[in-house]
Amino acid sequence: MRYCSTRGGVRGWGFREVLFSGYAPDGGMFMPETLPTLNPDTLKSWASLSYPQLVQEVCALFIPDDLIPRRDLDAVLSSALSQVSLPGTVRVAQLSDGLSILELFHGETLAFKDLAMTCTTHLLEYFLQRESSRATVLVGTSGDTGGSAILSVRGLRGVDVVVVFPRGRVTSVQERQMTTSLEDNVHVFAADGSSDDIDVPLRRLFADQNLVKNNTLMSLNSVNWSRVLVQLAHFVYAYLRLSGLERAEGGALPTLEVVVPTGGAGNIAAGCIVKHMGVPLRLVAMVNANDIVHRAVQSGDFSMATNVKQTLAPAIDIQDPYNMERVFWLLSGRDGAQVKGLMEEFQRSHKVTLPDALHSKLSSAMSSGSVTDEGIVETMRRCWEENQYLLCPHTAVAVWQHYHCPPHPGENRCCIATASPAKFQDAVQKAGLTVDLPERVRALEKMAARYEDLERGEDWEGRLRERIESISSVRQCGVLFYSPV
Ligand SMILES: *Cc1c(COP(=O)(O)O)cnc(C)c1O
Repeated sequence: MRYCSTRGGVRGWGFREVLFSGYAPDGGMFMPETLPTLNPDTLKSWASLSYPQLVQEVCALFIPDDLIPRRDLDAVLSSALSQVSLPGTVRVAQLSDGLSILELFHGETLAFKDLAMTCTTHLLEYFLQRESSRATVLVGTSGDTGGSAILSVRGLRGVDVVVVFPRGRVTSVQERQMTTSLEDNVHVFAADGSSDDIDVPLRRLFADQNLVKNNTLMSLNSVNWSRVLVQLAHFVYAYLRLSGLERAEGGALPTLEVVVPTGGAGNIAAGCIVKHMGVPLRLVAMVNANDIVHRAVQSGDFSMATNVKQTLAPAIDIQDPYNMERVFWLLSGRDGAQVKGLMEEFQRSHKVTLPDALHSKLSSAMSSGSVTDEGIVETMRRCWEENQYLLCPHTAVAVWQHYHCPPHPGENRCCIATASPAKFQDAVQKAGLTVDLPERVRALEKMAARYEDLERGEDWEGRLRERIESISSVRQCGVLFYSPV
């Protein structure tokens, strides 16, 4: 299994190198050079696996045994997922109106990102221990990635984490999940801007090959292939549980529609990959008022709005859905030159029109919808009234689609639940509902916090570079200090 860049400039990388990087050196994103096929027999043989077992099977397809022996791989992944206290790790809620919800949010920070994040950091730690080395992780966040990265590296000896979050644009629970980790290996910056503003200096830092090499600098955003890899399991699991596979006769497999609240598009990219691997999925990318993905699917208009709109679903307040690059690459027939042209143009001018052939592939690969704040609130209320089941505002973006568009006849549908409503109390209140806060969330309020500000007009790239370099020099001093000379 070898990996290449979506922009055609890099081929033949191994999983370890890809795990330890962010963007590819040519500015693209890593993808497997070829995809394994999941045939009906394989799918049927996996039908009774638990979610953690399925993650192991899926990861084993992409991580060669001579790099991580299967026994080690299973141990690393199962230890990672044992942090999730829910038996089985994930859960399906079956509600009225044929609404099925796959709850992926029972990890440490109550968002779906915890699952892939903790698997990724444990894989990282596996290599760092084996090689007695260290790494620095640089993460930009719209709210959930930061806390998830911090909590999953807490207690890992080999990793420092630098997180930048958009000040005032995350919920108080999200903010406190990031700022209350006082460990020395956690460095948190609150920037006066949007998460897309934060992306700009981060991309520049990752493009500096010297900085990356000298500091073993890596990304834990869904830029990192390993995050997307683990998320493949969400779609396979949804398929095995909800498609009706067990009742299928003969060779034909049933189709499952999966509705995905979409921001940076890591999750929907994972869905596209699973579909390319032969699993019959119908994908629906649902967004809020930040609707670039929706416009791209509808009309090929892949252009940013002037400003990121702040909505009740802040984790998907994103105008640069960077994982669409992976989707474009797959759909273009792995045409690195075309993707390079498109994405460089997008980075320069913040807008491109997808070529007709690519747009038509995109609109057959997925459908899409965009939901207003009122739509979010109405959906949360209706789901509560009908089921006494509380949705987070992002999950409501997906469930809105269920309430407004009937499923295709004979097909089942699954809405992905990406977070717990306890993280988004504002939205719950706006819907006139209340949420019981878990003890873990209530405890955050009393904890001491630590972070540094990045003000508008300041040199964010410079400040972050300085911190990254100082982490490495402190480490080197540490080595000198502790050496037995
Ligand atoms: C990150 C996030 C999303 C969006 O996921 P992408 O893979 O970036 O599209 C949706 N909902 C919640 C709660 C999130 O934290």
